[in-house]
Order: sequence, then structure tokens, then C-alpha cells
Amino acid sequence: MLTKAYLCYSKKTMNKQSLQNFDPQIKEAINKELRRQEEGLEMIPSENFVSPAVLEALGSVLTNKYSEGYPGKRYYGGCENIDIVEQLAIDRAKQIFGAEHVNVQPLSGAPANIAVYFALLSPGDNILGMDLSHGGHLTHGHPVTHMTKVFNFIRYKTNAEGKIDLDNLRQMAIEHKPKLILVGYSAYSREIEYEKIKAIADEVGAMTMADIAHIAGLIAGGQMNNPVPIFDVVTTTTHKTLRGPRGGMIMCKEKFAKQIDKSVFPGFQGGPHENNIAGKAIAFKEALEPEFREYAIQIKKNAKVLEHQFDSMGYKLMFGGTDNHLLLIDVTTKGVTGSEAEKALDKAGITVNKNMIPDDPRSPMDPSGIRLGTPALTTRGFKEAEMEIVAGMIDRAITNFQNDEELEKIRLEVKELTAKFPLYPELQ
Ligand SMILES: *Cc1c(COP(=O)(O)O)cnc(C)c1O
Repeated sequence: MLTKAYLCYSKKTMNKQSLQNFDPQIKEAINKELRRQEEGLEMIPSENFVSPAVLEALGSVLTNKYSEGYPGKRYYGGCENIDIVEQLAIDRAKQIFGAEHVNVQPLSGAPANIAVYFALLSPGDNILGMDLSHGGHLTHGHPVTHMTKVFNFIRYKTNAEGKIDLDNLRQMAIEHKPKLILVGYSAYSREIEYEKIKAIADEVGAMTMADIAHIAGLIAGGQMNNPVPIFDVVTTTTHKTLRGPRGGMIMCKEKFAKQIDKSVFPGFQGGPHENNIAGKAIAFKEALEPEFREYAIQIKKNAKVLEHQFDSMGYKLMFGGTDNHLLLIDVTTKGVTGSEAEKALDKAGITVNKNMIPDDPRSPMDPSGIRLGTPALTTRGFKEAEMEIVAGMIDRAITNFQNDEELEKIRLEVKELTAKFPLYPELQ
């Protein structure tokens, strides 16, 4: 017996029903997620909200096209429009960061990093990267990742003042002779001195890689140091402060261009996601507008308000505060674990993530800290006055973490506040 779905396809070859009609379960989940994003305070520092133009590109027919290869050198016919899209993305990224060569095909940040390791290194080579609990990323050599079976990761740390310990980094570089020195972090809140690290790398004959996944938007907006002119290779995500679609990108010196491109495709990936690359191109055009600089400035101002507020409320700020968009806060001084704080804040409509603090005595599933940041709220239009209110709400939620009534009260206040800053009114 033929199923109903089969009959529907055979009659029309293509399903032309609306999503609402055809798949109400998925449609409802999307609607609920829209409501969650509209009505909550998104403070996970790696998250952001893309523009309607980026959303339009993501849902475009570009998703239908195979285009293995690179602009002008494809393994498939019919790529003339795809080539325009991908070349625009490349040219705009070059303009933003002053890059010699750009590859916009990495599917996300982790695949971008893996492609670089295989482009530059041989199995067994030493890589010097920062310890995860000190702000590094999983892909920089955490034992749970596959890459640690291929490369030999050695991890440096921050010092007692919470700064990258350059003397220690240099000592480790001299001792271990890494082929690659890695900087760029997920939970570290301070500026990075790329010239000094490049000098250490030169001293020991190492290549340099910066992973600016978190701070690319702040660099694009001219508010943080730019490693692209200094380092050999720079990777990034496009969906964090850069405010584009979920994806990755690699920038490098011309002398590494061929190895990098070959490593991404065919070395590691198949067909690029051109709908996504179109979204990247649009986000890069947005990042080239003067308003994006204002956005980057406001992200940092808003983070400074949080720093000041939490400091004066007696919280322990890791790394001594922030130079960027995020804060890592030890909440155990308030008698709460990171996991308890995350759960209480969730109930109050405030999304953050639990996070390890440097040399955390607790476990990754219930660490001592929470990590929070300002990029998403700044996209909504939040300024200093709103951030003060937000800091107060967070403190109330943490100190009342077992009081569901109070958490529900905060959630209603959050809903009221966010209603004044609608995100996607055109999607309602
Ligand atoms: C987020 C992040 C990544 C990974 O990006 P995904 O898109 O999640 O794969 C890599 N490196 C750093 C420093 C990050 O913060």
C-alpha cells in the first residue's frame, strides 16, 4: 500500500505545502524558539542575532548547489552565480581584516582549526596552546578531542594576575620546540599581545596561529588588536561577535594559501555550503558599515558595566576583569556552583553557561564559574542603563537560586524589559 506522503510526492513531485501545513511539529518548535529568543536575555558570549538579510540568504536556493572547488576552479558546472557569492565573501573579509588570503568554506570553527593543523603540520608534531580551564578552546588540544591522537598538544596557562604568562610561554616554547604556537580563546577576557608572541615563535622557529572565534567582531570594529597582519594563520567563526551565520573562516599569509585551500577541500571537507557563504558575505558587508564600529564600541562599554557592577556586588572576576565582550565569574564565593547559577538564571529567563575557572577544583559538569557576555544584548539595542538592570537581575537570581517564586518574578521582569527591544518583529 502506498503511504499518504508518497502519494503527495508522486502527484506534485515537489511538496509545495507551507511548513505550517506540512510539518506543524517543526514549525511550532521554530516558533517557540523565536519566542524564547525574543523574551529572554541571551548572555552566552558566543551567541548573537543575525540580520533579516542574513536569514534570507540562509533560506535561499543557494543551498541546492554543489560547488566543490574554489571560484573559477570548480568540479561542477553551473557555478557562475555561486562564484560571485563566494568571491564577494572573500574580498570583503580581506578588506575587513587586511588578509592576504581568505578561505570562507570551513563549515564551522572547529573544522577550520582542524583544517589548519593538517595544512601546516605532520602527525606527532608539537602544538603549544592554552589550557582549557584558563580560557582555551576544546579544539586547542583538550584530551577529549580526536586531534590529540594525531598531534602532541602542550598547554600553557595564565599567571596569578590572570594574564597570559609570556615568560612561561617562552620557556615552554624553548623546551618543547613546537611547530605551531596557538593563541585565541573562548573564556579569556583580556587583550592579546600578538607581536610579543610572534617574537617568541620566531625565536624557536614556530608558525603562529590565532583563533579569533570570539572576538572577530571586536577586531572588525577596530576595538581589539588585529593579529591578521602579524600571524601566519588566523581562524575564526562567523557567528559570534562577527554576527554572521554559523560558520568558519581561515585567513593566512599568501605563502600558506595553497596548503590551506587544499587542506579544507579536498583534504577535509566536501561541497561548501554556499547559502551559508552568502550569509557570511552579507554579514561582512554589514561589518564594513560605520554602524558596526559603534556596535563593537558598545559591546565593550556594556561589558565594562557588568564588570563594575559584579565587582561592586562582591563577585570574583577571573583574569581581573575584561577588555572584551565577556566575563568569567567565580560564583562559589556566593555559595552557589556554576551549574546551580546556570539553572537558576535559566528559570529567570537569562541564558549564560557554566564554565571552568583557571585550575578549577570542581568538575566540568559542575564547575565554579559562569561565563557571560554582551554581544547579543548589544545587538538588541541594550546600552549601559539596561546592563545595570541586567546585572541586578543576575545577582538576584544567583542569591535566590532555590527560590522559584523569586526566579519567576525575575522572569516576568525580563519579559517586560525585552519587549521594549524587539528582535525580529517581521517574523512575528
Ligand atoms: C567557538 C570556538 C570555536 C569553535 O567553533 P564552532 O563553530 O563551535 O565549531 C573554536 N575556537 C574558539 C576559540 C571558539 O571560541
